[in-house]
Amino acid sequence: MLPVVALVGRPNVGKSTLFNRLTNTRDALVADFPGLTRDRKYGQATFDRKQFIVVDTGGITGDEAGIDAHMAQQSLLAIDEADVVLFLVDARAGLMPADQGIAEHLRKVGKKVYVVANKVDGIDGDSESADFYALGLGNVYQIAAAHGRGVSQLLDKGLNPLADEFPEMEVVPKPEHEELTSDEQLERLKNLPIKLAIVGKPNVGKSTLTNRILGEDRVIVYDMPGTTRDSVYIPLERDDREYILIDTAGVRKRRKITEAVEKFSIVKTLQAIEESNVVLLVIDAREGLSDQDLSLLGFVLNSGRSLVLAVNKWDGLDTDVKDEIKREIDRRLGFIDFARLHFISALHGSGVGNLFDSVVEAYDSATRRINTSILTQIMEMAQDEHQPPLVQGRRVKMKYAHAGGYNPPVIVIHGNQVDRLSGAYKRFLMNYFRKSLKIMGTPIRIEFREGA
Ligand code: GDP
Ligand code: GDP
Repeated sequence: MLPVVALVGRPNVGKSTLFNRLTNTRDALVADFPGLTRDRKYGQATFDRKQFIVVDTGGITGDEAGIDAHMAQQSLLAIDEADVVLFLVDARAGLMPADQGIAEHLRKVGKKVYVVANKVDGIDGDSESADFYALGLGNVYQIAAAHGRGVSQLLDKGLNPLADEFPEMEVVPKPEHEELTSDEQLERLKNLPIKLAIVGKPNVGKSTLTNRILGEDRVIVYDMPGTTRDSVYIPLERDDREYILIDTAGVRKRRKITEAVEKFSIVKTLQAIEESNVVLLVIDAREGLSDQDLSLLGFVLNSGRSLVLAVNKWDGLDTDVKDEIKREIDRRLGFIDFARLHFISALHGSGVGNLFDSVVEAYDSATRRINTSILTQIMEMAQDEHQPPLVQGRRVKMKYAHAGGYNPPVIVIHGNQVDRLSGAYKRFLMNYFRKSLKIMGTPIRIEFREGA
């Protein structure tokens, strides 16, 4: 499980600025429920080799009516699903009544809260943030989100206490002797069930698909309660392979929690992706590709997980509509060359069985042992076929390759000036390895090391 860090505070204190600094904003996921502009925004962040999820919200004005009330509601939901709350205040504006209101709420919920005085650039931070001690939430951390000042000290304090509680947040350091360590890692993976996460935005048919799968297969145990935040783990056996289905939708639809859409939780989705081996991303044929689909996809690609794409609700569509959908997918998802694409109907069951062939293929590709001499041979063939370009008059020379990890497969290439190879050449290599090794369903990562 990755810990969740929520950014709360009044509007304009700098929450978005801090969010952007902590995450790769390209992959921000917005819970954009109909009719609303800014709800909760989610991103993946890594700090000091530790991973976490950041949630940003519109803010709490203290004068809640209409859209403000909704915004405040979103902040409260974000606080609810957070492990740590960074409570931002504006050092330039000073202590405001709304800050007091937020503090009062935070004192009641019993989460780890850090008071963060932002915008201390160019002012006397100590004296301008002294007032915030009156919030009664302990130490006041000074930062300038726009410039990054104080942010790492804050995270150091905020994240380190979490490290014991959330071992998953520790990004595993790259071992020195990868071959050996990777084999052990591989052996371990081979003996475990395939963790398959079914993800997708609301109403694409995740529950229907999960029910369909469970209806067709022998469910070994299934009596696990889920909360809004946690997925349900369902052990499953199919064609002599063991799976753990990570169900983000909730097979048994649960009581309304705070709002109808709460069935769908982005935190749950992101954690499911992180915990899975293979992600089954479900897209709704009738809706076409949305920004939310693409953001989810961005997260999957970022995580390095194996991926199978399922376009659902393929039943009852006219041929020309189907052709149009296929063209759109081709055009917008063409860049993901490794994932198998299935057209299915969860409702009627068509195509559902075939999904598992791709899931197995993806998992096996991601956890296959690839030996050094084969990798080096393929690298040499690639180099013969397409010489790396000259860099400052000198030819880049790749010398040998070996496996640096699995799930996803990492190929480490040693040589001279290899870190100067262009993106285009790296893509060429990636495709060459993919085709030669017949790796399907998982991304491949290539790392370059200078020297032999
Ligand atoms: P949010 O509404 O809380 O998300 O606030 P924003 O991140 O949108 O920031 C509100 C305003 O404060 C913007 O004009 C930012 O450029 C500015 N701001 C954010 N962080 C800093 C900072 O560290 N220093 C200064 N001087 N301005 C900042
Ligand atoms: P979830 O929110 O992703 O779990 O989506 P649900 O499984 O609750 O499905 C949302 C709606 O889509 C329901 O009304 C389903 O009956 C419908 N649905 C799901 N799968 C299919 C399908 O394959 N074809 C059609 N026509 N409708 C579907």
